[in-house]
Amino acid sequence: MKAYDGMYIDGAWRPAAGPDVIEVVNPADEQVIATVPAGTAEDVDAAVRAARAALPAWAATPPAERAARLAALRDVLAARQDEIAGTVTAELGSPPKLSQAVHAGVPIAVAGSYAELAAAYAFEERTGNSTVLHEPVGVVGAITPWNYPLHQIVAKAAPALAAGCTIVVKPAEDTPLVARLFAEAVHEAGIPAGVFNLVTGLGPVAGQALAEHPGVDLVSFTGSTAVGRRIGAIATGMVKKVALELGGKSANVILPGADLARAVNVGVANVMSNSGQTCSAWTRMLVHRDQYDEAVELAATAAAKYGDRIGPLVNAKQRDRVRAYIEKGVAEGARLVAGGPESPRERGYHVSPTVFADVTPEMTIAQEEIFGPVLSILRYEDEEDALRIANGTVYGLAGAVWAGDEAEAAAFARRMETGQVDINGGRFNPLAPFGGYKQSGVGRELGVHGLTEYLQTKSLQF
Ligand code: NAP
Ligand code: MG
Repeated sequence: MKAYDGMYIDGAWRPAAGPDVIEVVNPADEQVIATVPAGTAEDVDAAVRAARAALPAWAATPPAERAARLAALRDVLAARQDEIAGTVTAELGSPPKLSQAVHAGVPIAVAGSYAELAAAYAFEERTGNSTVLHEPVGVVGAITPWNYPLHQIVAKAAPALAAGCTIVVKPAEDTPLVARLFAEAVHEAGIPAGVFNLVTGLGPVAGQALAEHPGVDLVSFTGSTAVGRRIGAIATGMVKKVALELGGKSANVILPGADLARAVNVGVANVMSNSGQTCSAWTRMLVHRDQYDEAVELAATAAAKYGDRIGPLVNAKQRDRVRAYIEKGVAEGARLVAGGPESPRERGYHVSPTVFADVTPEMTIAQEEIFGPVLSILRYEDEEDALRIANGTVYGLAGAVWAGDEAEAAAFARRMETGQVDINGGRFNPLAPFGGYKQSGVGRELGVHGLTEYLQTKSLQF
């Protein structure tokens, strides 16, 4: 057990203003592995002041120099990849291979992409008799969740820094340790004091204080739709800019000409990865009625193969929430073909990989974000029916389409109300914009679209 007592503010680890701490628990064995300070409004104020003070110099730093600092940051993250992966496994419970490849690997790629974008982006352009300047928005307040704890910090901090903004991050209470590692990496990379600040603490205390702070110009939030709605209201009321990356209930649409076995197996893997704690997971599989029984059998077999190797959920509350959804699915008449509400292990917050068949579009498990290893398989009659079901939720974050050829899949994808679609198993692209249609959010992260979220324009007429 390690008791950490500092927060990274103005380039140094400073003691918290108050005495409260947060216990960090390993969800695989339920042991307390560390404590971190529970920051208060006072700590948030110190961090925002530091960010404000650092803003003029960082905003005026030539983009090539900002790019060099981001490249150094990428290199530190790469050098510390094993330590990062081990930390995420300890506080989130994700299997070591996933922690290496995704939780530690993706942030390296994203930091690298912003090192390149900062160097290449045209921060000035000409239009008619005007010069348009793309200037930093100012001080960013970032509130991040636990499901991809480092990625979600880097997806905000890297573009903010590339744009010339300074930032205060409030990470999720469940995963503050990798956030601390990131602050160390920022320090090692030679990023000036006050440009990046970290305040650990509880959402309704430190998170709320950050969203409400008048010294914050842009609030960037990733998490639940319920909290996102509150943050959006606070930010809008204070005329701050706001970016919200919220929940999803994405559809994996398997058209009749597709390679069914591949589409089902990749679909199941997508939902079970990270124990289903992925906002963009394809938690609804849509299959044509003629192939339905075969798909259900394939999915049940695929899910059973995962056994209890998927890792626990992040905490007891999430486990209980997911089990309640599974019970609700049974109660509403869906047919369990793999898994179920019983805990597969005595210790740790585990839930079995679960698959429901005979799910209809209006059922709770087909509408609400479960955030656990639970797949719902729905039957469609024809393509129009599939489209109606796919678009029939309040969310629109991601999705997948499988067909005999890419053009057919892409034609269907164009009609989907969602921010990202993988065509016949397309690969993750860290440069592609990520974000939601409808209630899945406001704004985009990653790539050049993620950078422009942190810029505002000024035009000079000549
Ligand atoms: P959450 O409460 O929305 O947490 C996200 C972040 O917001 C955390 O840093 C949290 O702090 C903070 N927060 C909470 N209440 C706040 C408030 N009143 N003001 C400012 N910040 C606040 O999400 P959760 O409770 O951890 O998870 C609940 C559900 O949200 C999940 O089951 C899932 O459906 C969804 N979720 C979605 C995503 C996504 O990527 N879209 C990620 C995580 C969760 P604390 O850590 O202290 O709560
Ligand atoms: Mg919470």
